[in-house]
Amino acid sequence: MPRHASSPLDALLVDGSFDGELFPGEYMARHTTYHIGGPVRYFVQVASLGSLKRLFDVCEREGTPCVVIGRGSNLLVSDEGFPGVVATLGRDFQTCRYDEKLKRFFVGAGVPLSKLVQSAFRHSVAGLEFAVGTPGSVGGAIRMNAGSDEDWIGSRVVSVTVLSRASQLVRYEAADLGWGYRTSSLPDDEIIVECELSVEPADPFFIRGKMEASLARRKVTQPLGQPSCGSVFRNPKGASAGALIEGLGLKGFRIGSAQVSDVHANFIVNAGDATARDVVELMRLIQAKVYKAHGIELQPEVRFLGFA
Ligand SMILES: Cc1cc2nc3c(=O)[nH]c(=O)nc-3n(C[C@H](O)[C@H](O)[C@H](O)COP(=O)(O)OP(=O)(O)OC[C@H]3O[C@@H](n4cnc5c(N)ncnc54)[C@H](O)[C@@H]3O)c2cc1C
Repeated sequence: MPRHASSPLDALLVDGSFDGELFPGEYMARHTTYHIGGPVRYFVQVASLGSLKRLFDVCEREGTPCVVIGRGSNLLVSDEGFPGVVATLGRDFQTCRYDEKLKRFFVGAGVPLSKLVQSAFRHSVAGLEFAVGTPGSVGGAIRMNAGSDEDWIGSRVVSVTVLSRASQLVRYEAADLGWGYRTSSLPDDEIIVECELSVEPADPFFIRGKMEASLARRKVTQPLGQPSCGSVFRNPKGASAGALIEGLGLKGFRIGSAQVSDVHANFIVNAGDATARDVVELMRLIQAKVYKAHGIELQPEVRFLGFA
């Protein structure tokens, strides 16, 4: 370890052999679609599996928590930030290959969903149109089983390769995995590094039609011009969280700069300089009102980081 580095993690900062970049004290507001979130000890862009393993190893040895995120589009980070490492998957996790014979995509977890959807369109294959306009990464989408009312990414999964906390690569076949509404059976502490997705050939006009219809629907039903994390709450069984919130007259209601969207009541938007605290207080207020009126406990869909 260089003499001036105070810990193995700090040593990575000046270690030329580390295949990645470290940003000390980076504000997570720069890495979330909410534009909210305080500083982390290190924000790390890992470029290879080797550097991801090394980062885990170093964090494990010094007891520093390490979390991998995608594009921060389903994430609320506290105003105080996070006293650990937040990593994103760079170079070697950005590959997106289509196998014509197998009719499958082999996709790195760091690939933006938008790139995958465009690639499917270029190859005239259908099955991923539901993801158009979803601003996440493939890894984040698998973790969240992202999708629409009718379709979700889990239904396309042939296999998922993860890095286990024991630093082993594990490949799950579709039969090993279960998918639910915005959930999967993948253990929370495993890092998705790659997946295989099945698609089927289709007329490009059909694919384009579905994508355009989906985008048009989003434009009308979602507040795309304002920072958000998408749907804040999961839909309770047999009900729509948005309809329940709207029914209580909460559209437009705000705490600080966190506001229940006028367009879609299950979106809380950052209407200026919202803090994580504003968002959390607004979420609590909504939960209390919905519970009082309907006896339903709304569960967050958004993931939290840095909250006690
Ligand atoms: C405008 C807007 C519209 C949206 N529309 C939809 C929609 O239609 N359908 C939908 O399902 N969602 C939607 N979302 C929510 C969000 O885009 C999805 O949940 C997306 O899949 C999250 O991906 P991400 O890469 O941004 O994940 P992040 O927000 O970065 O992370 C989400 C969770 O996944 C974990 N994670 C991320 N990458 C990995 C990895 N490689 N390995 C292990 N864990 C990982 C993180 O630790 C975190 O717990 C929308 C969001 C916005 C802002």
